[in-house]
Amino acid sequence: MNMNEIQEKLRCLGLYTGAIDDTFGPLTKNATGKFQTEFSGLYTGKIDGIPGPLTQAALTKAFAAAAVHKSTGAQLSEHFNENEFVCHDGSGLVAVDPRLVLKLELLREALGSKPITVTSGYRTPAYNATLPGAARDSQHTVGKAADVVVPGYTPAQVAAKAAQVGFDGIGVYQGFTHCDTRGYSARWNG
Ligand SMILES: [Zn+2]
Repeated sequence: MNMNEIQEKLRCLGLYTGAIDDTFGPLTKNATGKFQTEFSGLYTGKIDGIPGPLTQAALTKAFAAAAVHKSTGAQLSEHFNENEFVCHDGSGLVAVDPRLVLKLELLREALGSKPITVTSGYRTPAYNATLPGAARDSQHTVGKAADVVVPGYTPAQVAAKAAQVGFDGIGVYQGFTHCDTRGYSARWNG
């Protein structure tokens, strides 16, 4: 992985805001350090901001998890395992956008480190179609959404924090909050 590819992946995650210039500078170092911190499930090295082989391997794994695959129970970040996002149809299939993992970690921090329960993560399109009221092009079918419950917080309170940490789509439902990383802002009440 060259520096351009590293910068592009970090930018995709929203951690790097500089130019794709193939140059390791302070912005790249800062973004790398944040990645190493937030994806500590995948990255086991030192938090040093240096995108060495361990960091590159973790970046590769984080992005590979976004494609639909059988869950291997991989720990994606400190607090989230891909098993938590597996489709509820019994297939064992899962897809998890790395931005979703990152935002969930930030949301957890913003909510005072209360554990977040993912009640629905990835859904195969076929399974999603069986759910009453689910949008056909639901972000769940592309691994970019999580319905979450946090003890001690109402769905509306979770939604307010989700907005602060930069989730794109946020829906407030009776017993949970839908959070997604669709790439543009959307707000609704379910
Ligand atoms: Zn949802």
